[in-house]
Amino acid sequence: MRIYNSATHKKEEFQPIEPGKVRMYVCGPTVYDNIHIGNARTFISFDVIRRWLIASGYEVTFAQNLTDVDDKIIKRANEQGRTAAEVATEFSDKFIGVMRAANVLDPDVRPRATKEIGPMIAMIKTLIEQGHAYAADNGDVYFAVRSDPNYGQVSGRNIDDLMVGARIEENEDKNDPLDFALWKAAKPGEPSWPSPWGEGRPGWHTECAAMVHRYLGTPIDIHGGGSDLAFPHHENECAQATCAWHQGFSNTWMHTGMLLVDGEKMSKSLGNFFTLAEVLEQHSAAALRLLMLQTSYRSPLDFSWERLEGAENSLTRIAGTVENLRWAANHATADADAAAAEAFAAKVAETRAAFKECMDDDFNTAGAMGAVFGFVTECNQYLEQAGDAADKAAALAAADTLAELLDTFGIELPEPKVELPLGLLGVAAGLVAYTGDDVDEAAAKILEARAEARAAKNWDLADAIRDQLKDLGLTIEDTAAGTRIKSL
Ligand SMILES: [Zn+2]
Repeated sequence: MRIYNSATHKKEEFQPIEPGKVRMYVCGPTVYDNIHIGNARTFISFDVIRRWLIASGYEVTFAQNLTDVDDKIIKRANEQGRTAAEVATEFSDKFIGVMRAANVLDPDVRPRATKEIGPMIAMIKTLIEQGHAYAADNGDVYFAVRSDPNYGQVSGRNIDDLMVGARIEENEDKNDPLDFALWKAAKPGEPSWPSPWGEGRPGWHTECAAMVHRYLGTPIDIHGGGSDLAFPHHENECAQATCAWHQGFSNTWMHTGMLLVDGEKMSKSLGNFFTLAEVLEQHSAAALRLLMLQTSYRSPLDFSWERLEGAENSLTRIAGTVENLRWAANHATADADAAAAEAFAAKVAETRAAFKECMDDDFNTAGAMGAVFGFVTECNQYLEQAGDAADKAAALAAADTLAELLDTFGIELPEPKVELPLGLLGVAAGLVAYTGDDVDEAAAKILEARAEARAAKNWDLADAIRDQLKDLGLTIEDTAAGTRIKSL
């Protein structure tokens, strides 16, 4: 398996630190609002990466934090006359709920910043003792960027460029304008915790470093997040961890590309800003995931409602093919052509191999999805050719393969609507003198009666059958493998 490491700008052969095990961390949200679909892209991408690692046989430990104390949370709380804790609890719960609705697996560990103050203070103390950090007169503690000879290793920036390019704000408490806060002294009315430097709260970059170390142990195999986090957030996490504990922080850094809406940057002022919850009110999680995974995680992703509608249609088409394969397997009335069945079974194996090859190449979901779409076409061709003589084993293997590959993407196919209502018994009793109580048998009788009526050119009876089924929300569908009654 090869993974693009954004710290080295290369695809590298993936070798976990402990054979067979993967420890990964993906920065979670700051919980002051509902997450937008750009955030969702990152979380869905890493969910698929995690699922593929698991499907490949790795034992994966996945940690993700909740930043539940931060300037934005405090600002929102003040605007709304609530406490920061109330705002954080509301949006933590909403985040967890909407992630589940998007079929993103829960992390194995979900630490919250406010519950990790002790480990963060311990890390800051270690950094001060080693000369990598200092307490300022105002009660803040800063990380001394120039004390880290490897600063810039994650984002590829160097200190001189940062000095030239940085928007240096005036802060006389810092020894150097590049230094960043590890601990912020409390202002009146802000949530705070006691520390050796007085009442205060941790800086954002501090929490992830402390949590990774506590829950996964450094170095880890994969650290991920949106590309906007590479600098300064990930750079600063890495600087703290490597200076505090003198070992690597993450062997591989992965960053997701940005999400555009109709080709433009998403922004509230352009009116093209959508939350994940809003999108899931109108469309299935499966369709959203299908849309997102048709672009590989590092490339910019173009979201539009038309594309989402298109993904919904693709999903219906794939589900229809899976249903038709199962139907054909269970209703074949003639012997299958052995050579055609063998050729079709070979396509199943080829599709699995192509899917794996793409996913093992830096999680190329776009290519893997292309293999699935190509296979759907081949399945439809096979069903067409085989008619009522499909090979049961090959057709079922194809159906299972489609369902399984999509499951690796966290895409659940819509349930086929085949359950026939009891009302069919009434239709059958009225039209074909059926007196049993088996719904499937009644359906078969009705289809038989319709076929006979059509053969005898008794259009009134054929129409009456169709109309009465319609009243029950049912329709008659002709497929290559035969005729069946289906929900509308
Ligand atoms: Zn982080």
